[in-house]
Formats: sequence, structure tokens, C-alpha cells
Amino acid sequence: MTQQIKLSPTNCSQCGSAAFTAAASGKDYIYHGTACDYTYARCDDCGHFYLNPRPEIGEIVLMYPANYGTFSDRFQGRANLLGRVKTAVNQRRLKAVMANLPQGGRVLDVGCGNGELLMALRMARADLELVGLDWHFPIETRRSLERHGISLIESPLESAELPDQPFDLIIMLQLVEHLWEPEEGLQRLAGALAKDGRLLIETPNTDGWDRRFFKARAWGGYYFPRHLNLYNFERLADLLLRVGLVVESQRSLSAPLIWIYSIQAAIQSRFGWKSPLTRIAGVKNLPLIAGFALLDSFAMAIGFTTSNQQTVSRKS
Ligand SMILES: [Zn+2]
Repeated sequence: MTQQIKLSPTNCSQCGSAAFTAAASGKDYIYHGTACDYTYARCDDCGHFYLNPRPEIGEIVLMYPANYGTFSDRFQGRANLLGRVKTAVNQRRLKAVMANLPQGGRVLDVGCGNGELLMALRMARADLELVGLDWHFPIETRRSLERHGISLIESPLESAELPDQPFDLIIMLQLVEHLWEPEEGLQRLAGALAKDGRLLIETPNTDGWDRRFFKARAWGGYYFPRHLNLYNFERLADLLLRVGLVVESQRSLSAPLIWIYSIQAAIQSRFGWKSPLTRIAGVKNLPLIAGFALLDSFAMAIGFTTSNQQTVSRKS
């Protein structure tokens, strides 16, 4: 049984223009929440990419079913290989911003999911005050994080009550692209930053070199219907400037999961929605993930932009 989802037209969230050209179309190839066809629009005025029409916020349950990745994968720490690899990757990619954090520094992870990043930070630095925010925490996730002294705020960012005490670092990984009102969300976060505090964002990059292979249908970064807005370096920097943050650094990160999603979507647009052939390229296929991570590392080494970016901005 497939369910109907309510969609509404929207304007470009960057410049307000209603003029757009359809850039890509596809279905929910990953969670199969609804059978709807979705369209990715490209703004005729500023070039911004956004889902249009898009689901209303009340449809969030159809967009994020109960088996959605970040909730169902409980943090497993050192218990398995994937957990160990993730902890190491998390610690390494945050090394530079961590080095700037004062003793007892306050860190907020917005959209922390199962909390694996906060756990990696806890293992690296016992002195930090760690806070996680997400719109839903399963009880066992909450228990295991709180046991490690991590405080949790259970709320969507849009309506969250953020603590009065400012943060030295706010991390938002693969979340800004999911927000209905990205500028409002970032405005709130900028307000919660200490002077000289940093906001670290990771989000897909529409300038990724692999988008050209899957462009019109199946590029994994579209992630129908969950990614509502997508940025390249310039447009994300513009958005941050509008909320009073100055970009300090921008770089590409390898994007193995976007490759996997691209391949799953390509298989389904060729062999039919929900085709069992997608099992050959699943998100738990470690050798395949490692292979794409390596391919992207090579691409970065020769100066290519990948489909995943890390942008660090600062409140001056
Ligand atoms: Zn625009």
C-alpha cells in the first residue's frame, strides 16, 4: 500500500523568485515512503536548487519512516567494525575545529540522530559540555547518551528552546538540506553562538563531479523527498553571510553514501522502483563504500569538487 503525500509549491529560499526550470525528477528511491514523483527545481534567477513542489511539514512521518537510518542504527561504539571506522572518521574530520575549543567548551550537535558523533567527541575530550538536538530520540539512545553526560533537546530546530549559555561550536551534519526554513534555522544557531564561536556544516554540494553522471534523475544528493534545498560553496556562503556569519573555510569531503544512493536510484529508474537489484549496492556494503571513498579522495587530490562539503563559519 502506498500513501498520498501533500505537496505545496514554493519559491526559491535564497532569492524569493518563483521562476525555475526543472532540473531533475525521481521518486523516494531509498525509503519508499510514498510512490510520488518529485521534481528538483533550479532557480532561474540565482541558480539555487530546491525541491518544488515539496511536502508540507505535517507529512514528516511519510518522509522519515521508522526505519530511517539515523534513528534505527543505535550507536555501537567499538562493538563492530563499522562503528570503529565511523568513530575514527568522525574524530578526524573535526580535528581542526576541535583544536580551537577551549577547556570545558560547549558543543551543540544539531540533528545528532543516534549520537555517534557526540560519542566520538566524548571519547576524544572528556572536558567538553556536549548537547545533542533532534526531533525524536528512541529511549535506548537517550539512556546511553545521558549516561555519558550528554544532554539532549528533543525538538525540531525550528521550535527548539536553545540554552541561554552560548556555544563555542555548533555542528550540523547533513541537516541544513532537510530544513523547511534554512535561513530561519541558521539565524537561530547564529544567535546561540558565542563571540568567535564556529558553526560547522556538512551538506551535499551540487557542484560535485559525480552529479554529471546522474544529473537528470538519479544523483543521490537529491534524496527525494527529504532534501529540500541544496547548495554549492558560493550559495552556502551567501546564506551564512545573511545570518551574520563569515565563512572561514570550505572543502570537499568524500561522498561515498551519495554514490551509493546514486547507484540505487539509477538501478530503480532503469529496472523499476524497489527493484531487488538495489541489494547489490546497499549502505552496509563496506567494500563498496570504501571504494567510493577512495575514488573521491583521488578526485579531490586532482582538484575536483565532490558531492559533500564541509563549511566552517565564524561569528565575529
Ligand atoms: Zn533564487
